[in-house]
Amino acid sequence: MSRTWTRAACSRIVAGSVEATPPAGEPAAAGPRIGVLAIQGDFWAHSGALRRLGAVAAEIRRPDHLEGLDALILPGGESTTMYMGIESYGLDQPIRSFVGEGRPVFGTCAGLIMLDRAHLGLMDIEARRNAFGRQVRSFEQDVHVQGLGDEPLRAVFIRAPWIEDAGDGVEVLAEVDGHPVVARERNMLVAAFHPELTDDLRLHALFLAMVGEHGEQGRSSASRRSGLLQDGSPA
Ligand code: GLN
Repeated sequence: MSRTWTRAACSRIVAGSVEATPPAGEPAAAGPRIGVLAIQGDFWAHSGALRRLGAVAAEIRRPDHLEGLDALILPGGESTTMYMGIESYGLDQPIRSFVGEGRPVFGTCAGLIMLDRAHLGLMDIEARRNAFGRQVRSFEQDVHVQGLGDEPLRAVFIRAPWIEDAGDGVEVLAEVDGHPVVARERNMLVAAFHPELTDDLRLHALFLAMVGEHGEQGRSSASRRSGLLQDGSPA
């Protein structure tokens, strides 16, 4: 993954830019390779958002599809169907290992539910399904997200969950009516709404910055292992 690309993405987040687009002329292949779970739900919208940010999006349906990826997105959809799909495709343990090894994961709406204690058990959160009510409670709202600048994010909630309970290691980045709707724990980011359905891609850009950080950590520990400092000189 190119360092230039990562630095550019980070500076756009800090600036709170709404566009969060890759530098003109930079080839998409320079970006990280992100898997999008494509069993059910609006995975295609995430793939589109990732491509607009210069990342490579790959649809994931089988455990071997996870090989060679830098990170993973679990999209919105229907959580019961999605979890049954994850289990029947034999993806539950491979996803746990993938994330357990430190690679970043971003769960949106049903994807947030997938990561909670009652499903994949990766994040120390309890999600409450359909927390805002059923279909009638689909709505759009401006949400202030910590780390994305002063400009609020227009968030699309569709039969959304909220985070009912979170452990001490979970950092809440946004709330609606006092309920956490965006949170981060180590390499895991979740949003209760659908950031892939609007043009404001700052949350995806934040996630890609996490992916960049992880890539740089991986490179520096690899050079430590090989007895070299990051600049290539002997340790
Ligand atoms: N209400 C859905 C569920 O609990 C999630 C909705 C969504 O992902 N937009 O499965």
